[in-house]
Formats: sequence, C-alpha cells, structure tokens
Amino acid sequence: MAQAPARNTIPSVRHRLAHRHCLLEGALQVTDRRVAATLMRNESDNREFIHRIDLEDRICFVNDAWMTFADENNWSASAARVLGTPLMSHITDPETRHIYRLLIDRTRNTGRRSRFCYRCDSPDLRRFMEMRISRLPRGQVEFRSRALRLERREPVPVLDPALRQRSRDVLEMCGWCKDVRVQALWLELEEAVQRLGILAEAALPQISHGICPTCSERLKDAGGAA
Ligand SMILES: [Zn+2]
Repeated sequence: MAQAPARNTIPSVRHRLAHRHCLLEGALQVTDRRVAATLMRNESDNREFIHRIDLEDRICFVNDAWMTFADENNWSASAARVLGTPLMSHITDPETRHIYRLLIDRTRNTGRRSRFCYRCDSPDLRRFMEMRISRLPRGQVEFRSRALRLERREPVPVLDPALRQRSRDVLEMCGWCKDVRVQALWLELEEAVQRLGILAEAALPQISHGICPTCSERLKDAGGAA
C-alpha cells in the first residue's frame, strides 16, 4: 500500500485515467491485453480491489491488488499519485457522479452497506463484477470490488484502448453494465455493434460513458441490497 503524496504531485494523473471506469467509477476498465491473457488462462480472478475515501471524498487508500491492477493497465507511474485526489475528479458523467454522491452519503449517514453488480469488460472478456461499499471510522468509506464471473468472447475491437484512430461518431455506453444506446434502446455491446454496423465502418467510434436508466434505478436502490 502507498502513502498519500503531497497534493501538488497529483494533477497529471487525470489524463492517464481515460479508461478509468472499472474500479474508481465503480465500473477502471480492464483494458490491458496482459490482464485478459492472464484471466483467460485462469478463468477466474480472486483478487479483491480496495480503495477508500476520507471524509473529504479524497482517495486515501488503495490496496496492493488495486496497485497491481493499475500497473497492469499501464498507469503504474501514476497509480500511487491517485492517493489524495478527489474521487469525483475521476468520474466525468454527471449522472454517475450523482449516483456516487447518493451512495456515499447514505453509507456515511446510515452505516448501511451497499452492494451492486457491474461489468468491467476487456475486448475479449466479459467480467461480471461486484462492488461493496461500507462505512469505516473517521468518515472514511471503503469500496471493495471483485470479479464474480468471467466469460470469454470474440474480441470487440471498439473496446480496445490501443485503438488510436477513431471516427467522430460517439458510442454512448453505460459505465456500469456496458450496454450501448441505440436510439431509444440500450443493447448488449455485441448486438449494438452489429445493429449499428460499426464493424463495417473504416474507423471505430469513440466511446462516451454514461449510465442507462436500468442501472440508474438499480444503483439508487443498491443500499437496500447489502
Ligand atoms: Zn447500465
């Protein structure tokens, strides 16, 4: 585990967290092929990723597994510097920030634990994750995340962070279940890719993360599912 650095060492972290979803946004994305290769060999991942925030919602602790995960996702140089940054600075989508606010406040105020499931996919793996949120002394809140189940799939190139050439089109993806918006519908990624004819395009679209209505309701109710 690492100690919190001085605050003025922090700002350069943010751009490295472009694929921040899975652990911090409830949902850092597993984006590194080395991770996927390891998981495909093992077909399971028993690690538990833990991060905590202090009373001011600044990240004050990450465990060794969390640090290793960060390293696997190629932001090792900045992982320790995540400590001391506001959790919300890693969450770009306003609705997701709102959900986090609700969950954190409720956890602090009631001591009730929250538990919810979310997806943390790589191009060739569906990762079904679980997050548990609980209150600690001194106003700290702890987030524990682990993989419940892994499923191999044909790689979905649109999720590959190494893909630098993207069109101006934007694919709206739920950061929690990884469904994709197709007009009024939210569809499983593979179906959406097919429906939208994305693979036929010369360049794959950019991805913007938000939250689908189903996950929004589900997460607002998550406090009762502990
Ligand atoms: Zn969703």
